Amino acid sequence: MDTRNIIGYRYAQGDNITFKAVDPSSGTSLPGDFYIATLAEVEEAMTLAWKAFNEYQHIGKDKKVAFLRAIAEELKANGQEIIERAMSESGLPSPRLQGELGRTTNQLNMFANLLEEGSWVEAIIDTAIPDRQPLPRVDIRKMMVPLGPAVVFGASNFPLAFSVAGGDTAAALAAGCPVIVKAHPAHPGTSALVANIIKKVAEAQGLPEGVFSLLYDYGYVIGEALVKHPNTKIVTFTGSLKGGTALMKMAREREEPIPVFAEMGSINPIVLLPLALEKRSEELAKTYTDSITMSVGQFCTNPGLLIAIKSEGLNRFKTALAEGISEINSATMLTPGICANYQRLVNERISSTEISVISQSDKLNAEKVNQGLAAVTEISAADFLANEKYKEEVFGPYSLLVVADDVNQLEQVLNSLHGQLTATVMADAEELPNYKQITNQLAILAGRVILNNPPTGVEVGNAMMHGGPFPATSDSRFTSVGTSSIKRFVRPVCWQNWNEDLLPDELKTNNPLKIWRLFNNEYKK
Ligand code: NAP
Repeated sequence: MDTRNIIGYRYAQGDNITFKAVDPSSGTSLPGDFYIATLAEVEEAMTLAWKAFNEYQHIGKDKKVAFLRAIAEELKANGQEIIERAMSESGLPSPRLQGELGRTTNQLNMFANLLEEGSWVEAIIDTAIPDRQPLPRVDIRKMMVPLGPAVVFGASNFPLAFSVAGGDTAAALAAGCPVIVKAHPAHPGTSALVANIIKKVAEAQGLPEGVFSLLYDYGYVIGEALVKHPNTKIVTFTGSLKGGTALMKMAREREEPIPVFAEMGSINPIVLLPLALEKRSEELAKTYTDSITMSVGQFCTNPGLLIAIKSEGLNRFKTALAEGISEINSATMLTPGICANYQRLVNERISSTEISVISQSDKLNAEKVNQGLAAVTEISAADFLANEKYKEEVFGPYSLLVVADDVNQLEQVLNSLHGQLTATVMADAEELPNYKQITNQLAILAGRVILNNPPTGVEVGNAMMHGGPFPATSDSRFTSVGTSSIKRFVRPVCWQNWNEDLLPDELKTNNPLKIWRLFNNEYKK
């Protein structure tokens, strides 16, 4: 494993200052010294990226398709080594990481398929009408073009699918944007293995040098320099609200402000309606025990808030949830920082007078460190409404049940929430028509509204919307999962009055790429 920074096709080791990866389950260092990049290396990577952009944006779909597919193949071929390293760096178990590797390669292939199909460029053609009265109409043709070099901040909780070769990188490369990854210091070895694959493939396929670079840091200097570099045209990020808003501020204050697409998490409210609780309280408790504790709760879609009206069914739900949660063994959290943060927030909540404990697991694995223990607590709707701090995310296997006196109070709780990635209603078909106000409210709150499913488990596809109003993300108009996530990396340009031979193929009248287009108000190929 080469642990140096990757700048185009060369390796760089900055000022020879290194850091080590930590195994969060033992707290011990893992093999490998990772070289912290310098500002000079940021400059070099960004200069190369800009040069590469001029060429890469025009190389055509076939070369981009081959690039994405070859990365996926190489990831598969080296899967065992990558998964083993990711396990030791993240504490995540093998089956979870096997699934994540599959998701990563599927995402790369999904974008390759999207490019082959071609309509994603949203070509629109209004041909000239020279004899239109009172004025002639000129020929205008519009499509999406890539924005430019993209800086990608990987997520700690998805060391593969939201990291070096994750969804952001795949979408950016598909769009025609070079990628510069700021490696997440929680999994530098996994990042190195994946980045070396991308470098090798890019070089072997003769792609412009600088189409991909990866820089390490153990702090904010390199990330900040990348965001502020004039050649950076877009930033993507998955992580904390604090980190995301810091990057947004930097990008806004640049001489040329640029978009930051930050996915900053969510408490993903779940409304449990009375009839559903009455009819299937045990089943709902099982669903939410699993969803709250899956991957030690380290999902941005973790159900951190349950909301219900007091009832006998709710009491039965609480009893079953308490039993379920008390049976959950502790497990290793991603980083010592994430674990310490989790324990601090849970302790704060448990010790506050407004909150009571429904259940807290005591099944601690004392042989390992950085263990997350599941907990579920309860608060009255009145106290919840009076305390802004309970609307914040507790990243880990935790959920807060808010108990309302009646439907009006339940609605007030929903109305008081900030933007979310998801909002769910668990309901019986019979009762849904009586809660129109509630179900309508969900789509105002969140990017994905769910009926009778847990929010964890984000399908990667064409229709997925993984985003939502601030603070869930920095821009509720875009998704960071699925084919539509490519839209973050493009902007529309229209060509007015150009000769056929000078137009991009996507916009030529005879449609050589045979893609769907809106041609004089009619969708056709
Ligand atoms: P983080 O602290 O937000 O960091 C994510 C990445 O952004 C890291 O590479 C970090 O660099 C960089 N970064 C953060 N603040 C920065 C700043 N001001 N300037 C430049 N770069 C900055 O996330 P994390 O370390 O993965 O986890 C911490 C917390 O984030 C968790 O406890 C959880 O609350 C939240 N989180 C949310 C999600 C989600 O799905 N939205 C996922 C993971 C974590 P350095 O690490 O080098 O400092």
